[in-house]
Amino acid sequence: MRKKIVAGNWKMNLNQADGQKLTSEIVNMIKDESIQDVTVVLNPPFVHLQGVKKLLEGASNIFLGAQNCSDKASGAYTGEISAAMLASFGVSYVIIGHSERREYFGETNAMLTEKVKLALENGLVPIFCCGEPLEIREEGTHEAYVTNQLTESLFGLSEEDMKKIVIAYEPIWAIGTGKTASSDQAQEMHAAIRAHLASHYGAEIANGISILYGGSCKPDNAQDIFSKPDVDGGLIGGASLKSRDFTDIVTSF
Ligand code: 13P
Repeated sequence: MRKKIVAGNWKMNLNQADGQKLTSEIVNMIKDESIQDVTVVLNPPFVHLQGVKKLLEGASNIFLGAQNCSDKASGAYTGEISAAMLASFGVSYVIIGHSERREYFGETNAMLTEKVKLALENGLVPIFCCGEPLEIREEGTHEAYVTNQLTESLFGLSEEDMKKIVIAYEPIWAIGTGKTASSDQAQEMHAAIRAHLASHYGAEIANGISILYGGSCKPDNAQDIFSKPDVDGGLIGGASLKSRDFTDIVTSF
């Protein structure tokens, strides 16, 4: 059985008080729903990690995640945050290679390989993001584009390390646009990603890897998307900033 995961990516939103309020509400709502079989991950900005961690004490299925880590282990890299620091703050998951990092901060497939390695060395679970821009989708080469992202960044990993990875498929044209991929489009790509993983690591490992969908996932479409056989949950942006919406997505399986 693959892990079902719903991760909230707050991106660069919320001040300290609002972050605390949102976290408390989510913790209480999820307790009320007594959800046991879904792993929930909150990925706030770095400055929220310690405060959010405190509020998660006792919430056994809600984990702390970060949105990024450095591709360097330590040293004179002003403004950077290392995977080791995150681990020491009780972080369990880290988003790596989000399309916004690739686009606005120049992150390359090769840099992402380093980030994934450092995350794993420090016991963090990488949520590795892939996904194509609109022009690639319109050209019809999206499958080759996305599988190439995976090959270049991940296929140097050992089998043991690969088993620890979570993948998030986020078509860029669906992020923050209100234009979600249809559940069939999501399933098609998730199946292609799994087949690609199987081609290198074998079916057993590929079948154990959770693949999340991200891009305008909301309470009113989550159930349809999550019902697909290769969709194991979601990476949620905008809707993760509203406690009711986020909790409704968590209960959409
Ligand atoms: P939205 O849910 O706001 O479209 O964002 C998706 C995303 O980028 C999550 O990482």
